[in-house]
Amino acid sequence: MHDLVAHFRAPKGSLTTQELPPDAQTACACCGLAGATLTVSETPLCLVCAPAYAADEDKIDQHAALIWLPQFDQGTLSRLLSAAWTTLLVSRVGNPTHTHALTILDDLSARRVAAIEKIGTYYPRRLRHAVSTLAPHHMLKRQSAASGLRILPVAAWRERHTDALSTLLSNRNRAP
Ligand SMILES: [Zn+2]
Repeated sequence: MHDLVAHFRAPKGSLTTQELPPDAQTACACCGLAGATLTVSETPLCLVCAPAYAADEDKIDQHAALIWLPQFDQGTLSRLLSAAWTTLLVSRVGNPTHTHALTILDDLSARRVAAIEKIGTYYPRRLRHAVSTLAPHHMLKRQSAASGLRILPVAAWRERHTDALSTLLSNRNRAP
């Protein structure tokens, strides 16, 4: 289980993305699907999951938002996003499946409000800063509790990686 509070306590500057060699055939450690092209702290990740790990990336607050979604772990959320993004790629505007995918994305996006209610922000960088200052006894008190906070990559992230995401999503959906 990817717990943002524990993950965001990594040493300052360590949560940035590195490229995997293009011929590496690696499954994503978060969603379990094929097509990891990046690593964060040596964890192989796909483009859908990477924002949940890369809190030290320059534009993380523009590319991703905190949402409150305790029902899903980060990998399940990524698989839902992959499905919705694939639908947007292959269906036409106005088509019911296209509209349904947009509704799912809007619903997820609206969960930023619950993150604000819980912790006062939906900016990943602010959470990163706040948890890095938690005393060890605060972490001990949590024991193995995992936070219900998740990271939602937003439209700006999709737009920045349009081509690579199209390739990733098409490859995943290609019939064997
Ligand atoms: Zn992934």
